[in-house]
Amino acid sequence: VSVINKIAAGEIIVAPANALKELLENSIDAGSTSIDIVVKDGGLKLLQITDNGHGINREDLGILCERFTTSKISSFEDLTKIATYGFRGEALASISHIAHLTVTTRSKESDCAWRATYLDGKLAPVKGGATADPRPVAGRIGTQILVEDLFFNVPSRLRAFRSAGDEYNRIADVVGRYAIHSEGIAFTCKKQGEAHHSLITTAQASTVDRIRTVYGAAIANELVKINVAGDKRLGLVGASGYATNANFNAKKSYQPVLFINHRAVTCDPLKRALSQLYSAFLPKGGHSFTYLSLLIAPDKLDVNVHPTKREVRFLNEDDIIQRVCESVQHALGEVDT
Ligand code: ADP
Ligand code: MG
Repeated sequence: VSVINKIAAGEIIVAPANALKELLENSIDAGSTSIDIVVKDGGLKLLQITDNGHGINREDLGILCERFTTSKISSFEDLTKIATYGFRGEALASISHIAHLTVTTRSKESDCAWRATYLDGKLAPVKGGATADPRPVAGRIGTQILVEDLFFNVPSRLRAFRSAGDEYNRIADVVGRYAIHSEGIAFTCKKQGEAHHSLITTAQASTVDRIRTVYGAAIANELVKINVAGDKRLGLVGASGYATNANFNAKKSYQPVLFINHRAVTCDPLKRALSQLYSAFLPKGGHSFTYLSLLIAPDKLDVNVHPTKREVRFLNEDDIIQRVCESVQHALGEVDT
């Protein structure tokens, strides 16, 4: 069973950036206003994420890493209208099969923090074979997740990583996207042992400030606001974001920063439509930047995509993409031809 779990986990978590994305989403779901990330060796040696969210109750720590342990779905009804998608209680379980996982957490009901270490979905036995119970430690309200030696028991996966630098850049890309999308949350991200942060935002920073921090002033100074009205018939609750204006013309291309129902995703048809729209007025080879947050009625979203695939599907895709493009065009001051 352990081997099967290990293989399954290795298919879900294929790189440190996948694990980090899941941990980030958990911290955001916990209502955090501050999230700090520390990474060593591209996340393969260490991934540490510290939040000030609502924490986890001590009595929930024993089963935290069992598959399908989730506090986010409490009935079948919830499952049919789930607004999030992906792991559904599998992230921490998966990580515990392919890394050393330590959780330190304190909820507001508790006088102290509790620390637990996990192995293969269960509390890790201490030396001598006794079962380890969570132990009390000093700590503030919130949760710290420590993932060490990711893929230590999946050598084939470990061999596939070329450089810690590339893996760190993927992690920083994920953090940057969530930092842009998460107004009200302060983020920091750095490599362990370095004083310099690769990313810092305050809780108060506006969306444009956040884009400036992550992508630079050249982009942040040339943005127009996008707003797309909802349309019940299409299952579109609404959309908003920012796009670069016609003065901006990058030599390199930027992947759109796209969120659907607050999860970072990709959507190739939308990406193509946007680049086609911009190609109508940017010089040949010029590139734009867009950040879009779409809210889609949960029953119109395909939640059955494989968790590693960030590509998302939804009903009325063509119509919704057209609405988004019309809004971008309108914001850019272009008249329909
Ligand atoms: P899911 O997010 O799909 O519920 P996970 O495996 O990612 O599944 O997490 C399992 C559960 O652990 C969550 O439902 C939540 O109750 C708890 N949890 C995980 N991370 C945090 C966190 N940072 N703060 C508070 N609770 C957390
Ligand atoms: Mg989760």
